[in-house]
Amino acid sequence: MPAASVSGLLGMIAAHQDLGQYQELLWEGGFGDYLDIVRQDPGVARNAYQRLYDLVVSYGHEDYTEYKKSIRRYTFFDDPFEQGSDAVFGLDVHLMKLVRVLHAAALGYGPERRVILLHGPVGSSKSTIARLFKKGLEAYSRSEKGRLYSFVWVDANGKETPCPMNEEPLKLLPESTRPAVLNEINGGSRTPYPVRLEGDLCPVCRHLYREVMREVHGDFLELAKRIKVRRLVLSERDRIGIGTFQPKDEKNQDSTELTGDINYRLIAEYGSDSDPRAFNFDGEFNVANRGLIEFIEVLKLDVAFLYDLLGASQEHRVKPKKFAQTHIDEVILGHTNEPEFRRLQNNEYMEALRDRTIKIDVPYITRPSQEARIYQKDFNRRKVAAHIAPHTIETAALWAVLTRLEEPSNHKLSLIQKARLYDGRAIPGFTEDHVKELRKTAKREGLEGISPRYIQDKISNALVRNPGVTCMNPFMILNELDSGLDQHSLLSGDEQKERFRELLGVVKQEYEDQVKNEVQKAISADEGALRRLSGNYIDNLRAYVLKEKVRNAFTGAAEEPNERLLRSIEEKIDIPEGRKDDFRRELMNYIAGLALDGKTFDYTMNERLHRALELKLFEDSKDSIKLTSLVTQVVDAETQAKINIVKQRLIDHYGYCETCSSDVLQYVASIFARGDASPRK
Ligand SMILES: [Zn+2]
Ligand SMILES: [Zn+2]
Repeated sequence: MPAASVSGLLGMIAAHQDLGQYQELLWEGGFGDYLDIVRQDPGVARNAYQRLYDLVVSYGHEDYTEYKKSIRRYTFFDDPFEQGSDAVFGLDVHLMKLVRVLHAAALGYGPERRVILLHGPVGSSKSTIARLFKKGLEAYSRSEKGRLYSFVWVDANGKETPCPMNEEPLKLLPESTRPAVLNEINGGSRTPYPVRLEGDLCPVCRHLYREVMREVHGDFLELAKRIKVRRLVLSERDRIGIGTFQPKDEKNQDSTELTGDINYRLIAEYGSDSDPRAFNFDGEFNVANRGLIEFIEVLKLDVAFLYDLLGASQEHRVKPKKFAQTHIDEVILGHTNEPEFRRLQNNEYMEALRDRTIKIDVPYITRPSQEARIYQKDFNRRKVAAHIAPHTIETAALWAVLTRLEEPSNHKLSLIQKARLYDGRAIPGFTEDHVKELRKTAKREGLEGISPRYIQDKISNALVRNPGVTCMNPFMILNELDSGLDQHSLLSGDEQKERFRELLGVVKQEYEDQVKNEVQKAISADEGALRRLSGNYIDNLRAYVLKEKVRNAFTGAAEEPNERLLRSIEEKIDIPEGRKDDFRRELMNYIAGLALDGKTFDYTMNERLHRALELKLFEDSKDSIKLTSLVTQVVDAETQAKINIVKQRLIDHYGYCETCSSDVLQYVASIFARGDASPRK
């Protein structure tokens, strides 16, 4: 029954379309209706900066403290529009600065007369931030809170001519009436921004305004009857309120791309090339009116257009060919890559630009956990079917961050430890003030190094190269990262490549330590055995400290405390012979204190003892589990059963799958077989 199924589908369409919103967006009314709207909600007449700032803060924020500094994270930058696909991580401080600039611009404190210049290395989040603003403005213009309006002219025959620059309808108000009307609108002070009217109508509207005024003998109320006000929905695709300009090669730039061009076909119709109706106001500056214009690689802009750009930002005016200056209302956002910025730092182009721009740094992320979120997001978006072995993403992210950090001058601190400190981890001997100092002294941190894009590409390669793989492990990605370095176009020479290779070695070593540690823990994660060992240790400890004997549970005989047992555990956490008495007394005091409060000591209460017991148990059971026999491939049934228990623990508690738990056991076994069983403390 094809007919029924079609109508079924149509029914589905009917159920899903939002007619209410559609009609809302198609609202149209007279000039008087619009005045009523503005009087009720003056926010509809906000300028582009106010709109953008309000958009960002409308999604709320979260405050937190880092290194004694309070930081605000704006939820907007999580990308509420496409489930986080453009979320910006790890740059809260820089984004805060950007939002502060927007706020000042919204209040008219000056930044609204500057180019906002996002500056950072290739592949930092500059375009992502611009994209978020654009998506946000589109969504905001469709919402009740962010709605805005423009107008069309209707002549006596009903023919419509829209304002080509989608201007604010209030701009139609005759000069003489503006103060009184604005006074009335702003009287209630319900918005943080009083409505202001800046600049004149565009050339087309000015022309029509004069014509119509002549017809109606100067009666504005009659003119207003020729105006239809409409809801304006911003849309980059439809070229409404959002523009993007990317300079082509230097000889090929044409000002018409920015400010529009003569329409030769229409000259015949209107009789003159100075009739504004024979002009296409479709340059990016015209298109972006009421919203935002993004200048990609703004420093590549030809000097001839630099003055267009500066005029647009400082005066809010552009000059289309043959016409008077035309007022614009749009946020001007440029971005530039760090190498380009440095190249131009001392030339006169930059001189002119420098005090007319507000530079916001958008560096690479220098916190491994934040960097990892980028790649995690990629995996989620691609819906990768394979399991991602533990530490895979973290290891790649750690490497990326290490390439961006400056070597610490303090030789007590390794580069990895610095990265960990930046990530908010505690390292003995280093305080928050140290971290602040480290951050301050590193001048170019985050402006150089490996871009996230490189890692993303290599992860893609690894996925393509291993089709049908059930589990991605760090080596698959580290190998890609390594082999890609030779073709990396942005690396400046062999020295840098060499350093990045060394850092790959550093993160491999770190990975090795982590998995060794995990396997050790999994092997010794036998709680009963740990508890027995702990009980044994404490009994002997008490006897030692109180100078008593220990009762042998088997023979009942009173014996001297077992010094060999005590030391074999203490040595695991590097307690030297000379310090053992202090350690034992301290622990005993603690246990006694607990007893006074009616509490019983448990080995999990003391982190160091816990670790020491684990390591001791690992040492004792390592040989009975015969992990190293994995390397020789001959595994007897009894050993296999023990190994399976460890494997299951890795799966249950450490996030491994069937494949990578086997792999990692094999890998760690090979390390032990090499004789490198030195445990990590
Ligand atoms: Zn206009
Ligand atoms: Zn796995």
